[in-house]
Amino acid sequence: MKSQQELGVAVPANKPLVVRTIKQVTKEQREYVLKKTEYSMFSFPADLIFVDFLSDSGSGTMTDFQWAALFHGDESYARNKGYYVLLEAIRDTFERGDYPKKSIDMILSGETNVKKLIDELYLKSYEGGFVNGGIHQLTRPNAFIVPQGRCAEHLLFSTIAPILRENKNITYYIPNNGHFDTTEANISANGIIAVNLFSANLMEDFPYDEMDKRNPFKGNMDLEGLENLIQEKGVDTIPLIYITITNNTAAGQPVSMQNIKAVHKIAQKYDIPLFFDACRFAENAHFIKEFEEGYQNYTIPRIIQEMFSYVDGFTISYKKDGLANMGGFLCFRDKGLFHKKFSINEDIGIKLKEKQILTFGNDSYGGMSGRDIMALAAGLYEVVKEPYLNERKTHVRDFARKLAQNGIPVILPAGGHAVYLDMNKFFEGTDMKISDFGGVGFTIELLKHYGIRAVELGPFAFEWDKKTPEQRKGILNLVRFAMPRNVYNTSHIDYAVAAITELYKNRDKIPKVRISRGAELRLRHFQSGIQPIYKE
Ligand SMILES: *Cc1c(COP(=O)(O)O)cnc(C)c1O
Repeated sequence: MKSQQELGVAVPANKPLVVRTIKQVTKEQREYVLKKTEYSMFSFPADLIFVDFLSDSGSGTMTDFQWAALFHGDESYARNKGYYVLLEAIRDTFERGDYPKKSIDMILSGETNVKKLIDELYLKSYEGGFVNGGIHQLTRPNAFIVPQGRCAEHLLFSTIAPILRENKNITYYIPNNGHFDTTEANISANGIIAVNLFSANLMEDFPYDEMDKRNPFKGNMDLEGLENLIQEKGVDTIPLIYITITNNTAAGQPVSMQNIKAVHKIAQKYDIPLFFDACRFAENAHFIKEFEEGYQNYTIPRIIQEMFSYVDGFTISYKKDGLANMGGFLCFRDKGLFHKKFSINEDIGIKLKEKQILTFGNDSYGGMSGRDIMALAAGLYEVVKEPYLNERKTHVRDFARKLAQNGIPVILPAGGHAVYLDMNKFFEGTDMKISDFGGVGFTIELLKHYGIRAVELGPFAFEWDKKTPEQRKGILNLVRFAMPRNVYNTSHIDYAVAAITELYKNRDKIPKVRISRGAELRLRHFQSGIQPIYKE
């Protein structure tokens, strides 16, 4: 008899307790609604969709532990109890590895020992890490709660840009292994140039039957590219280096610990602060455990602790990694390199806090409701659980494998949160040009015929037509199917695989598209109108 492990399939990690019925919408109804919503994926009513792969952001199912925590939400204006619990959960997750304190249990179990609450939670003093505590968070604030990831990006870049310009009026660059669209937009909105340094092996072929055996960490940063950029543009032009884990723009591919360490070394050598865009830290840690030499016997929390030991700070959307439906965060190491470099006339933390209050609210809620803060704090303990991560990984990989088996050009190995199609290969042999936005035409047809929503992350989203030939090299031509956590099962995947395969067979019928409204808008894929051009 085979053992549980020898069966070769992931052991189920959870079971749903709530079910939502999907509406049986017809193709004609979807066609009508598409026409009335300018064929934009972002304007189509979600309630009319069978399977929604638009985003994994905030669209996951919460666990019973999170729903229970939500009821402990404290909606007080200042210093709600969830604020303290969340800061502790963040210290646990990113700094304490195998030794979390889990102070959240004190609140959930109704601790009545007031002295204990005061000493261990409400006034407990911390300094020197990502999240100062007690008096130090008041005098040297370094941790900022915001509603989502882009708010953290806005807070960071809009605060440092004027400091940089005051200092020296030169062109600044922020390199990344792959800027997410909102990160790039927030950087360029503040007059800084965002540079993508994708790994050279990103678009290399990979056999689908080896996905469980090895992983080439295609999300890595191009180290040579980074050195060249610093040498070429000069150290003073680079205020920050960013690593996105996992690399969403580069097909959700993971970044190895070795690469993180190497970038850290370069950053140290040139005295440049290193930040994570940490959105999918748990999924990235899981890839390291599974595939990187030397980490098989580490726990996920311990890997996360090591990953974060190499950075000076991070921005994060807590809507990713299945953590919560809402939340974002910015922090930097107390008295670290970032703090030193940007505290020129005034403490950078004080400046950031002032802007946080101006735009999102008091620092103890930062635009979040008390119940969302509690659900998020609980979520941080849920996403690092290995059975959950195993099951999720298997699910996404399964989707990619089934597409590959049907001959669909899917990026392999599968990323952590999504499956990506290579649209250049998809349209090979047809007359579709990159400026025809074939990926957008594909998503329109997929939604119209089969009620499945995906998103183009390619020349349309990354504004190919507005960029220089040099900048165009940083644009991939992809369509993304993002998997919300604990929402879809094998039947949803099989339906999607059949639909995508049918469209692939009929790819010569997919329309080119034209931007009918708002081509010039920033982040236009969220807001502009589209017109498919159907052949007669
Ligand atoms: C989603 C995402 C962001 C932005 O977060 P929001 O919560 O959507 O504002 C930033 N970076 C990456 C890598 C992301 O996936």
